[in-house]
Amino acid sequence: MIFLEYISYGRQCIEDDDIAAVVETLKSDFLTCGPKIAEFERDLAAVTGARYAVAVANGTAALHIAALALGLGTGDEVITSPLTFAASANCVLYCGATPVFADICPDTMLLDIEDLRKKITPKTKAIIPVHYGGELCNMDEFTKLAQEFNLSLIQDCAHSLGGKTCGKAQGEYDGMQIWSFHPVKTITTAEGGAVTTNNEELYKKLLRLRTHGITRDKSQYVGEDAPWHYEMHDLGFNYRLTDIQCALGITQLKKLDRFVKRRQEIVNMYNHAFAELPLQIQQTPAWSTPARHLYTIRLNEKQRRREVFDALLAKNIGVNVHYIPTYLMPHYKNIGYKAGICPVAEDAFERMITLPLHPQLSDEQVEYVINCVRNTLFPSPPLSFPM
Ligand SMILES: *Cc1c(COP(=O)(O)O)cnc(C)c1O
Repeated sequence: MIFLEYISYGRQCIEDDDIAAVVETLKSDFLTCGPKIAEFERDLAAVTGARYAVAVANGTAALHIAALALGLGTGDEVITSPLTFAASANCVLYCGATPVFADICPDTMLLDIEDLRKKITPKTKAIIPVHYGGELCNMDEFTKLAQEFNLSLIQDCAHSLGGKTCGKAQGEYDGMQIWSFHPVKTITTAEGGAVTTNNEELYKKLLRLRTHGITRDKSQYVGEDAPWHYEMHDLGFNYRLTDIQCALGITQLKKLDRFVKRRQEIVNMYNHAFAELPLQIQQTPAWSTPARHLYTIRLNEKQRRREVFDALLAKNIGVNVHYIPTYLMPHYKNIGYKAGICPVAEDAFERMITLPLHPQLSDEQVEYVINCVRNTLFPSPPLSFPM
C-alpha cells in the first residue's frame, strides 16, 4: 500500500480557535505593538517556568539578542553542539565571537559534558546546550559546570517546549532560554521565537535589543525626561513579533500538553517497532522528561543510508536528516573549521534518517512508516529455517 498523501516530517496543527483568534486580532486596533504581545509573553513565562519572556520575530533572532545581551564579541568563545540547526552557532558569529563545537553522546545525541569540559579555555564565555530532538540536556550538570568556570548559559530550547530536565522546567535555570515557533516546532506562530530568563537586567536588555535598542522606560534615561523623549542605548534591531502572531501563540500554547502527549505516543510506537531492527534510536536519559520534536533512526550499515532514504521518499514519506554537523557547512569550512572535530556527531549524521513526527499523524500513518522502514531494510520476506 502506498499512501497517496505525502507524509511530511513535521507540520503545524491549526484549528478553528486558532483561526478565530487571528481574525479577531486582525479586526482589532493593534496588528503589532499591542496587548497580545504581553499576554503571550505572560503565558509563555508560565509554561516555561521563567520569570520573564521576550517574544521576537523568530528563534534565530532570539539567539542573536541572547548572545548580544551577554556582550559577546571578538576573541570570545562559545561552546555548542554541531548536531543542531545552524542558528545555534551562527548567533555566536553574528557577535564576532567564535563557536567551538563539543561532541555528542552516541545514545542520547545530546552534548557530551565531558568533551565540552575539555574544550573550555580562558576565552570561553558561554555554553549553548541544545535539547536535541526534544530530549533534555542535564541542566543541573551544565549549571554546575557553568558556575565552576563562570560561564553563561543559553539553552537552545527550540525543540523542547513542554519538556522538563532534572524534574524542573527549563526556564527555572540561570541564564537564558530560546524558543522557536516555526511551523515544524511544537507550537507555531508561523515565524516566531522568544527568549526567557529570570534575570531582570538581561530582561531589560533583551527588551531594548528587540526594538532598535530603544527604551521608553524613564528609569533607564541618561538624558532629559520629556513627553516626547525616548533613548537608544544599544545597537538593536526590529525583531518584534506581531499581535496577529501572538494571538495565534496564545491559542497554540493551550494545546501544548495535547501536542506533546501525541508526539510521545508516536515515539513510543516507533521505539517499540524498531527495537528489533538493526538500527539505533535516540535514548531518553534518566533526567529527561522529553517533549519530542524529532524522531531519527541511525542505520547500523551507513552505506545503506542513501538507498533507504530514497526508498522511503519514493513511498511518500517525508524523510529528512537532522542535521549536517554545522562545522561541515561550506561557510564554516571557509572560515577555517575542518572535518573530524566531533567524530560521534559526524558518525550519527552519516547513519541518520529523520522520520515523520507531528501530532496530526494517524496511527495508520505511523504503522505505514514503520512497515516501510522494515520492508526497506529487509526487502525479501525473512527465510524460515528448519529447526
Ligand atoms: C528551529 C531552530 C532554531 C531557529 O528557529 P527559527 O525560528 O527557525 O529561527 C534554532 N535552534 C534550533 C535547534 C532549531 O531547531
